[in-house]
Amino acid sequence: MAGYLDARPRVGYFYTGKTGAELLGDKVKHITVKHYQSRPIVVQESASVYDAIVTMFLEDVGTLFVVDKQTTLVGVLSRKDLLRASLGKQALESIPVSIIMTRMPNITVCQRDDLITEVAKKLIDKQIDCLPVVTEVDFGSGFEVIGRITKTNITALLVDLANDEVI
Ligand code: ADP
Repeated sequence: MAGYLDARPRVGYFYTGKTGAELLGDKVKHITVKHYQSRPIVVQESASVYDAIVTMFLEDVGTLFVVDKQTTLVGVLSRKDLLRASLGKQALESIPVSIIMTRMPNITVCQRDDLITEVAKKLIDKQIDCLPVVTEVDFGSGFEVIGRITKTNITALLVDLANDEVI
């Protein structure tokens, strides 16, 4: 079961020759986004920066996704996006999130069957904390958000690996 031994009909058990590190790598390369994704938290593009800050506190998340009336992904809001918007003198209730968000097509996304290692690489390469998990809608012209995957989810995977509790 650990992968050090394998069995073949009429041969019996034999040593696979794989090291512990290779076996760990094999295990990780089968883990996909759907095993570790969390629930996405979204706000409407008409919501104000004030509403977004309240939502971020109430939902206890560090990244919000912005959707239009058809629930299509249009933007991403991070903690620092909201902090930056709060530095000005303008009332936060009067600034729509659509002005300050990172918008499509500049959003890095993933899908539920993508490998978790690909997601981890995207998070590092783009220096971001979170990716929306999406499905294509309208024949690929837009995305619907079905989940989110964060550095915390990747940390949970690390803990499961250490405890040999990977799904
Ligand atoms: P913070 O800004 O709080 O450090 P991030 O590092 O996640 O959080 O975000 C950095 C910038 O990247 C922000 O302007 C944010 O809007 C943007 N961003 C966050 N997630 C994504 C994503 N999945 N795709 C594109 N841009 C993103």
